[in-house]
Amino acid sequence: MHKHLRERLEDALHDCALHTPEGFEEEDGQRIDPCADENEYASRVVEVGLRLHLRSRLDKRRVEIEDALKRLDLGGYGECAECGEDIGLARLVANPVATLCVVCQADREEQAARLCA
Ligand SMILES: [Zn+2]
Repeated sequence: MHKHLRERLEDALHDCALHTPEGFEEEDGQRIDPCADENEYASRVVEVGLRLHLRSRLDKRRVEIEDALKRLDLGGYGECAECGEDIGLARLVANPVATLCVVCQADREEQAARLCA
């Protein structure tokens, strides 16, 4: 049952690699020319910020996918990290990197919602 999910995860990982901005490293953030005129400086800051944002999102996603693949190899994939119950195939098909069952996920979202209220 997990073969199909593994393929999905590997595809997603490949996708992350494709979308990661090339030739871009963290230090690019420091390479903004401080002598550039104001408008250029501002647009550089926005550009670098966007790329950093995209990159950190992709990095996070990649870690999630790699974790899921690791769980597939070592066991524990499809088990809720919170209560240990089966996450359920339908949920895994919808979200192959899910680590919580529907009940625990709902609990967590409720807690988060309360924090933000
Ligand atoms: Zn659970």
